[in-house]
Amino acid sequence: MIALDGVAVRYGTSCALDGVSEQVPAGQWLGIIGPNGAGKTTLLRSIACLVPHAGTITIDGHPVSGLRRRRLARLVAYVPQLPSLPPEMTVADYVLLGRTPHIGYLRMETDGDRQICAGLLDRLGLSPMAGRALATLSGGELQRVVLARALAQEAPVLLLDEPTSALDLGRRVDALELIDELRRERSLTVLSAVHDLTLAGQFADRLLLLDQGRVAASG
Ligand code: ATP
Repeated sequence: MIALDGVAVRYGTSCALDGVSEQVPAGQWLGIIGPNGAGKTTLLRSIACLVPHAGTITIDGHPVSGLRRRRLARLVAYVPQLPSLPPEMTVADYVLLGRTPHIGYLRMETDGDRQICAGLLDRLGLSPMAGRALATLSGGELQRVVLARALAQEAPVLLLDEPTSALDLGRRVDALELIDELRRERSLTVLSAVHDLTLAGQFADRLLLLDQGRVAASG
């Protein structure tokens, strides 16, 4: 369960989130909708502790702000709108980065880690490009690679910021169906910022409408 209580985020003098309270039970998919600048990304980034917040955010009762980075990375996987991608890195190596929170200090990844990544590459139709450098992929292919890296983290909470905006409609539905399948298999809690209301309605259990940093509606 993710619980937000009076969450507020300020950037300088402007208030991006203002007193957001919400609860998301484990295994639920919450779609976050709202106009540009409403605070959707800020809400996801505050749960991932990438931006300081006032109020409290807890995951299964643990305040996220008190968790060490490694523990947080095992709990929360975040797919940003604009991920930074090392252009020369191969697809396989990039997806393997998702296993980092599970690999001990000064340890190497195991065959098990490689198998998890290979399985995800397969499920996302990326196996044929496993050896290619990220710089050579299309926008839609890159988006699937970034999703594969996040899923490789095997965190129970998945935060997605417009995860499929660069995909064609067929791939978009495929990617969301895969997320939904994994959600059911692993009881993943998914929070996704979305602009496409049809897809939001199709996949999310519940929608949260933000407007100017406040909850305008939820249901
Ligand atoms: P979009 O639909 O365009 O992605 P959003 O709902 O995700 O928008 P946010 O990115 O959360 O909105 O931004 C909320 C507000 O906070 C916006 O007015 C934005 O300009 C502002 N903002 C976001 N990040 C920063 C920052 N680092 N510094 C200053 N202002 C910021």
